[in-house]
Amino acid sequence: MTKQTIITLPGDGIGPEVTTAAVTVLKAACSSFGTEIETIERPFGGAGYDRDGEPVTQETLELCKQHKFVLLGAVGGPKWDDLSAEKRPEAALLKLRKELGVYANLRPIRVHPSLAGASTLKKEVITETDILIMRELTGGIYFGRPRTNGAGNGDPYSLDTMSYSRSEVQRISRKAFEAARLRDKRVCSVDKANVLESSRLWRKSVEEVAAEYPDVELTHMLVDNCAMQLIRNPKQFDVMVTGNLFGDILSDEAAMLTGSIGMLPSASLGDGNGLYEPVHGSAPDIAGKGEANPLAAVASAALLCRYSLDMEEAANNIETAIHAVLDAGYRTPDIYSEEPGTTLAGTKEMEQKLLEYLTVPAT
Ligand code: NAD
Repeated sequence: MTKQTIITLPGDGIGPEVTTAAVTVLKAACSSFGTEIETIERPFGGAGYDRDGEPVTQETLELCKQHKFVLLGAVGGPKWDDLSAEKRPEAALLKLRKELGVYANLRPIRVHPSLAGASTLKKEVITETDILIMRELTGGIYFGRPRTNGAGNGDPYSLDTMSYSRSEVQRISRKAFEAARLRDKRVCSVDKANVLESSRLWRKSVEEVAAEYPDVELTHMLVDNCAMQLIRNPKQFDVMVTGNLFGDILSDEAAMLTGSIGMLPSASLGDGNGLYEPVHGSAPDIAGKGEANPLAAVASAALLCRYSLDMEEAANNIETAIHAVLDAGYRTPDIYSEEPGTTLAGTKEMEQKLLEYLTVPAT
């Protein structure tokens, strides 16, 4: 057995419930391929504030940087809403992302056939959709300078700056091309090159990287057209790479293809570091009830296998188990409808079913 250490930061609300399921499934999936997963857990977010008086300690940040791979639950809740900005649970998230230098945010959008009815879009349009959105996370207009407000001679104005450097674009482009090699080998770069200078540089820089990956096809799409194509024909996309602002909007739009926030995993990657977390928050309304959907957290653990542990087969096994549990009709309340052949299940029961389907893969 080889050994890998993962830092777990369960956080608040349903975070600990879904992280427990993710760790259990991760350990089982990896051990069947000869890798033992050791976890080190730390309080984070509101739980961190309650214990240490701050949402994340320097010691926890150092531990995450040292071990490189982090599995996070979710943070936040009404109990901590009135704290000052730097003490709020969300501050811990921003600090962690910055310290780990995770500049590439990956959001797989996969519509499970048995849940296709949960989307607001027509079943035939979304069935078999499988997109990986790669969003640049630490640059672009959210971080560009100058950023200011002016008096403007009685007509006040505000200024944000959208800027990208060639190296910023190229490092995320490489991540996109590498990811495409594990999939259908197609990258669509999304920009606004007909209007924006920063997009023209973006396009040129992506093309330079594409030359290093002759086995991967590169296409370009303008962001306004992309917003439309995602709804018209989402199946046309494999890997999509785009800047911070466009990626923020497009990934939320694409999330709606799947119907439920409890299903969406994410990975944030920097050079050598990986932060894995479900897209959803801490869901205080259902925390402690044992009914949280653990599938987004479990799918985040699959991404950890794929992108940080280099264990593609373990990742595939976890994803196959998720499909099998859904195909067998098990549903947490957020994805439950009274269809024939479905069974209402809690977080623990979903975890147990996932373990069963891991060891006895569906035929
Ligand atoms: P939320 O994602 O926590 O919940 C939105 C709705 O979706 C709720 O009805 C909730 O019950 C449901 N839901 C979410 N995840 C679910 C799951 N796994 N299974 C079943 N149902 C699920 O968003 P919110 O209510 O806007 O925010 C609650 C708290 O979470 C806030 O404090 C917010 O700041 C925080 N938050 C944290 C993160 C994060 O940690 N990355 C992300 C978003 C929100």
